[in-house]
Amino acid sequence: LADRLQSTIKKITGKGKVSEQDVKEMTREVRLALLEADVNFKVVKQLIARIKERAIGQEVMESLTPGQQVIKVVKDELTQLMGGEQSKIAVADRSPTVIMMVGLQGAGKTTTTGKLANHLRKKHNRNPLLVACDVYRPAAIKQLETLGTQLDMPVFSMGTEVNPVDIAHKAIEQAKEDHRDYVIIDTAGRLHVDENLMDELQSIKNDVKPDEIFLVVDSMTGQDAVNVAESFNEQLDITGVVLTKLDGDTRGGAALSIKSVTDKPIKFAGMGEKLDQLEAFHPERMASRILGMGDVLSLIEKAQTNVDEKQAKELEEKMRTMSFTFDDFLEQMGQVKQMGPLDELMDMIPGAGKMKGLKNAQFDEKQLGQVEAIIQSMTKKERQEPSIINGSRRKRIAKGSGTSVAQVNRLLKQFNEMKKMMKQMTNMQKGKKGKGGFN
Ligand code: GDP
Ligand code: MG
Repeated sequence: LADRLQSTIKKITGKGKVSEQDVKEMTREVRLALLEADVNFKVVKQLIARIKERAIGQEVMESLTPGQQVIKVVKDELTQLMGGEQSKIAVADRSPTVIMMVGLQGAGKTTTTGKLANHLRKKHNRNPLLVACDVYRPAAIKQLETLGTQLDMPVFSMGTEVNPVDIAHKAIEQAKEDHRDYVIIDTAGRLHVDENLMDELQSIKNDVKPDEIFLVVDSMTGQDAVNVAESFNEQLDITGVVLTKLDGDTRGGAALSIKSVTDKPIKFAGMGEKLDQLEAFHPERMASRILGMGDVLSLIEKAQTNVDEKQAKELEEKMRTMSFTFDDFLEQMGQVKQMGPLDELMDMIPGAGKMKGLKNAQFDEKQLGQVEAIIQSMTKKERQEPSIINGSRRKRIAKGSGTSVAQVNRLLKQFNEMKKMMKQMTNMQKGKKGKGGFN
């Protein structure tokens, strides 16, 4: 997708606090990027509304990493849009299960028929019969027969003179006789949706009563693919979609819209011309692809973990051993800035959230900057051993940090209080352990 979305994502990812303005900016970029990627505008509108609602809601605003949460929301919504979980192929109560492949000319029906047969045999241990119902081009029958030879699978054909409905009908009888458990019917396509084609496909459908009707669409055709999907679905009530040529340089917009326009799942993705290049369609992966991911993806994973458990453990250990210094404090602040308010950080530390006093030691963003400056103006020794910070040192630190002595005093006091409370807390925990505890 667009570079602009990427840079917005980067910008928003690190944010400790996300304002409504940020969300607006983000959704504007998402909207543009999606429209650029050929996503249907109605779909975009709905999606943006959902993203806004969630991003401005508590879920994001109250999280530790709101920037990352916003991205996660976008990804979730994209995933949902494409159908959430990927779905399976039907199995009929009575063999054979009949799958009918439909779509425009060149979409990849014949190729996908071969791929699907290969998939059914390899993954599900089935033995399909392929049926050549494209009677308009002799080459089409030949093409399917070639695939059959490559796969070492039977292809049922009756040439170009027989009505495709009869071919399909006979093929199923044949499959029953030969104990074939799947029948995959390759049909003819046209360059555009037209009535004759639809009539023919409807006749086949009415006769063979397929368990699945897979619409094969070329993902390279963008918005057209969506329109095609819409009309095929109206006429034939398809059961699923196969999106081909996703190995190409497609923007993926089609994938996004098809599910929401037809309400039919995208089941497979064609990833190349070869017979094994068919994959189950994973909406989540597609969402990642659309967001250009890679690094973004790992950020989302981070957002999902929320808390760096290792760091929280280390901090707890320091508190326990009372070796917590201003350096640690500073380090924590660095994280605080990325993660959100200090009181939330405290909530992450096991046990600390319950200490009311700690929570009252609140800092707002500006204060945070000043606190940082004060600590940075301390010498190494002062940071390790704050008790040596006497009057003249306080003056020096205030001057160095552009703050007042009163502010330095306040910080030192807060730091001492914090240490005191940590001690209480540690004792309390020890006490609990000593008694065997309930908790
Ligand atoms: P049909 O007219 O719908 O039966 O389409 P075909 O199966 O004959 O495919 C048309 C062209 O698209 C052929 O050259 C295929 O090799 C190619 N094709 C089909 N699926 C894919 C795919 O997933 N990736 C790529 N790169 N090419 C594909
Ligand atoms: Mg074909």
